[in-house]
Amino acid sequence: MSLVSMGPLLRDASKKQYAVGAFNMVNLEFLGAVIAAAENLQTPVIVNIAEVHFSFIDVELCAHAVRFAAARSSVPVALNLDHGLSFETAARALALGFTSIMFDGSGLPLEDNIRISAEIGRMCHASGAALEAELGSVGAEGDGGLESEADPRLFTDPELAEDFVRRTCCDALAVAIGNSHGKYKGEPRLDFDRLATLRKAAGIPLVLHGGSGISADDFRRAIGLGISKINYFTGMSQAALELVHKPADNKIEQYNDYPQLILETGRAVRSVVEQQMRVFLNGVKPL
Ligand SMILES: [Zn+2]
Repeated sequence: MSLVSMGPLLRDASKKQYAVGAFNMVNLEFLGAVIAAAENLQTPVIVNIAEVHFSFIDVELCAHAVRFAAARSSVPVALNLDHGLSFETAARALALGFTSIMFDGSGLPLEDNIRISAEIGRMCHASGAALEAELGSVGAEGDGGLESEADPRLFTDPELAEDFVRRTCCDALAVAIGNSHGKYKGEPRLDFDRLATLRKAAGIPLVLHGGSGISADDFRRAIGLGISKINYFTGMSQAALELVHKPADNKIEQYNDYPQLILETGRAVRSVVEQQMRVFLNGVKPL
């Protein structure tokens, strides 16, 4: 089937109490691993392409690859711009066929975040795509692998949520409740009371970024409290890096060592993704 919009996927997940995983693709191995895992478990899936990765990859080529993979797939696939940082990037992504934009205005003053989110939201909705906006700030943006911990001063304020959602017309809201990007420093501690209050105030599907390192029990609890999309990348990247760093792989012995590495990377990433998807499905069979 062709790419689907993220909005209906998240509304279904919210109704049935599971979460759709949003997994980043940085090459064909990651894309193949994510689609294969989703087909095996028969779950809808969101493929993320992050603006922070634009300098490493050919975005146009990747977007076309995702569209082809979706057309060939037996499960619904949405293509989401992960942490878009400007109106221009959002417009570029929509022109490439992305079916969802996550605009990250968390580093901006609140009124600027609302204004630009709303502008991007109008553009998204005009082309049948969905908007995810962020209120508060999930920590460690783009620090590329340093350990991080969440800063409670940047947690999402439930008192601002209703107004933010109404004024931006976002379809999903990324929340900061103790989650953090990259590797967690110590055990992540999610503020579930805040999440419960946020769900009531926002009234739309909520998104948990920084999924790598959160326990299965915490994921299930968060899904029960309104999380319908979970972003996951660091664990995939680590699984691939472990293969690259294995001592045996450092020796060039045969001409096809590199294709072999590609194959093994795909397998390792798929295994990690499938493990997470099982948790995110929360015992639900959505398709
Ligand atoms: Zn994120």
